[in-house]
Amino acid sequence: MPIIDPHNMKKEKCKEKVYPNERWGSFHPHRCKNNAWKDGYCKQHHPDTAKEREQKSEARWEAKRKRSPEYKLKQAGKEIERLKKALGAIANSEEVLSSDKASWYRQIATSALKEAETK
Ligand SMILES: [Zn+2]
Repeated sequence: MPIIDPHNMKKEKCKEKVYPNERWGSFHPHRCKNNAWKDGYCKQHHPDTAKEREQKSEARWEAKRKRSPEYKLKQAGKEIERLKKALGAIANSEEVLSSDKASWYRQIATSALKEAETK
């Protein structure tokens, strides 16, 4: 039987069921003791707050993922591919091909490309 506090009878209570975790073996859910804040939920258990909390947790997870060496390696690999393409585009561009210094430009771009591939 839930204990009813007569002092709190008038105020609407949060309708969320909570599972106490302070004591192992106590798996019986009870009604949240907080006063209702909006839509019958307390501020902590309102779906909006829960959603916000979830988004924050996702953002944290995403930030953690972006700090991981695997992610950084993948990004570095993408960057190398992008640079290779850029060098290739320079070596074969109209401007370079029609330039007086065409062979010089091509040589620079090609050696940079080789360097990028071997590293
Ligand atoms: Zn609540």
